[in-house]
Amino acid sequence: MASVHEAGLHRPLEWDSPLYRTAVAQFDQAVPYADIDPDVAERLRYPERAFIVSCPVRLDDGRRVVFPGYRVQHSSVLGPTKGGIRYDPEVTLGECAALAVWMTWKCALLRLPYGGAKGGVRCSPSKMSQGELERLTRRFTSELLPIIGPKEDIPAPDLATNAQTMAWMMDTYSMQKGHAVPEVVTGKPISIGGSVFRHEATGAGVVMTIARACERLDWKLNEQRCVVQGFGNVGGIASLELIERGATVMAVSDVSGGIYDPGGLDIPTMSAYAAEHGSLDGWATGVRVSNEELLELECDILVLAARENQVTLANAARLQCKLIAEGANGPISLEADAILRERAIPILPDVLTNAGGVTVSYFEWVQDLGRLFWGRDEIRAKLAEKMNDAFDRVWDVSSEKNLTLRTSALVAGIRDVGVALEARGLYP
Ligand code: NAD
Repeated sequence: MASVHEAGLHRPLEWDSPLYRTAVAQFDQAVPYADIDPDVAERLRYPERAFIVSCPVRLDDGRRVVFPGYRVQHSSVLGPTKGGIRYDPEVTLGECAALAVWMTWKCALLRLPYGGAKGGVRCSPSKMSQGELERLTRRFTSELLPIIGPKEDIPAPDLATNAQTMAWMMDTYSMQKGHAVPEVVTGKPISIGGSVFRHEATGAGVVMTIARACERLDWKLNEQRCVVQGFGNVGGIASLELIERGATVMAVSDVSGGIYDPGGLDIPTMSAYAAEHGSLDGWATGVRVSNEELLELECDILVLAARENQVTLANAARLQCKLIAEGANGPISLEADAILRERAIPILPDVLTNAGGVTVSYFEWVQDLGRLFWGRDEIRAKLAEKMNDAFDRVWDVSSEKNLTLRTSALVAGIRDVGVALEARGLYP
C-alpha cells in the first residue's frame, strides 16, 4: 500500500506535530517485531478520522468567545473509539492525534474491545468559571454529536476535565436523544451511571504496575522512595496508593511547583489541601523545589503523572532514579527514551502503566449497557487481573525478544490490532 505521502500529498499532514511524530517513531520501532503485514502497518500509521470544531461561548462578562476544539479517532477496528477530552491552552489536532494512536495500543494491550480516540478544547480552564465551563462543554458536545455515541466514540475525562464535565456531556447528548444515555461517556458521577472505583482507577493501576515490576525485579515496594510529578487525579491517587503499600513519597509537584521532604510527605493531608484549594500552592511544610529540580531528585521510583514531554534531552542524563513509571501520556521524549535505555533505567510505559483508567471506563460502559452494577472490591479485583495479565505479556515479550518494556507493550498492542485488521480486510 502506498503511503499517503507517496500518493502525492507531499505537504505535512494536518495532524503532523512533534508528539505525533514521537507516536509514529515508537510505532516504527515496534512494528518489525509485531509480525503484521506491511500494508496493515501502513494503514495503522494514520488516524481514521479527525474532527475540528469551533465553539462560540458566552462568558460571564457578556463577551462571546470562540474556542477551537478537536476529536481524533485513530482506529475503530476492534470496536468504538475511546479516549479522554482535555481542556488546555496547548491542545492541538496533532497532540490529539498522537494521544489517539497511543489509546489504540493501550486498549488492545488490555484486551478491551475499543480503538483509540482523543479530543480537547483549547482554553484556559483555570481562568474560567463553572458556568463558562458548563456552556463550553455543552456546546462542544453538541458540535461532536455527529461522531460520538455509545457504539461510535465514548469520551472520558483527561487534563482539567472531571466527572462534572462528563455529567454535562452525558446530559447534553441525552437531551438530543430524548432519553438518558449514560453509556455515551465514562468517568461520570456514580449517581448517573458512573462506576465505583473509576476515579481511583488510573492512579491505582499505576501502583499495581509498579508493584508487579517490583516483584519481577525482586524489590520490596515498601522500601522504595518515590517522587511523583503531577498531583491531580493520577498523581494524587498514585501517591496515596504508594503510601498505603508502605512506600515513602518524598516529593510531589503540581503546576505551582514541588514539595520535598526526604523523610516522607503527609500525602492524605496534602490531598485534602489540594482538593480544597485547587493546587498545592501555599502548602507550608517541606522544602520548595521547582518542577525541574523535582525530576532530578535522587530516588528509587519516579512517577511522571503531569503531562507530555517532561523528560527530554535537557534533563534525561541528570535523572537519579532507578525506575520510571509513566502515569501521564508521553511524558518522555523519543531522545530522552534512548538516553534512559543507555543508562539502563527501566521505564514502565504509559500504554501499560496508566491503562487502569480506560479499563475501569470499559467496566463502567459494560455496567451501563447491562444496567447492572458491581461493587468496589469486584472492580478492583477485575482491574488487578487485567493489569497483571497485560504486564506479564509485556514482560514476556521483553524477555523473549530483548526489547524495552515500551517497545514490548507496543508490540503486544499493535499485533492484536493488526491481526484484527487483517481478518476484517480492506473495504470495499
Ligand atoms: P489532572 O488535571 O487531574 O492533573 C494534572 C496534574 O499535573 C495537576 O496536579 C497539575 O497541576 C499538574 N501539572 C500540570 N502541568 C504540570 C507541570 N508542567 N509540572 C508539574 N505538574 C504539572 O490530570 P490527570 O487526569 O491526573 O492527568 C495527568 C496525565 O495522566 C495526563 O497526561 C493524562 O493524559 C494522563 N492520564 C489520565 C487518565 C485519567 O484517568 N485521568 C488516564 C490515563 C492517562
